[in-house]
Amino acid sequence: MCDADRSLPLSDDISLALDVEAEETVIEQCRGRKRTRNVHNWKKNIRKRKRARSEKYTSTTGKAIPGKSFTAVDCHCPLKCAEKISDERQSAMRHQFSNLSDWSLQTTFICSQTKV
Ligand SMILES: [Zn+2]
Repeated sequence: MCDADRSLPLSDDISLALDVEAEETVIEQCRGRKRTRNVHNWKKNIRKRKRARSEKYTSTTGKAIPGKSFTAVDCHCPLKCAEKISDERQSAMRHQFSNLSDWSLQTTFICSQTKV
């Protein structure tokens, strides 16, 4: 009897093990009655992301906040920032900043790019 068991091809054993695992995960999903939290789709968090990306959003009080579009800045300071940093570079930086879509990441970005 033992010899017969050993002669079974290894691949069968593996597929059996996988089947059992798959069945267990299905049971796990059905067990809970409550819905899973989908934090990503919360109204509050959608608004938060839109705001961080400078897109238009509706505030908590129902006010429509318009999105901001990029405009190149010339600060006219003695360091000649506008000459050193081209409009394209400014636009690229702004794009990079917006794409972080998270206030704390954006703050970290600013802190890492500036010297005080
Ligand atoms: Zn400047």
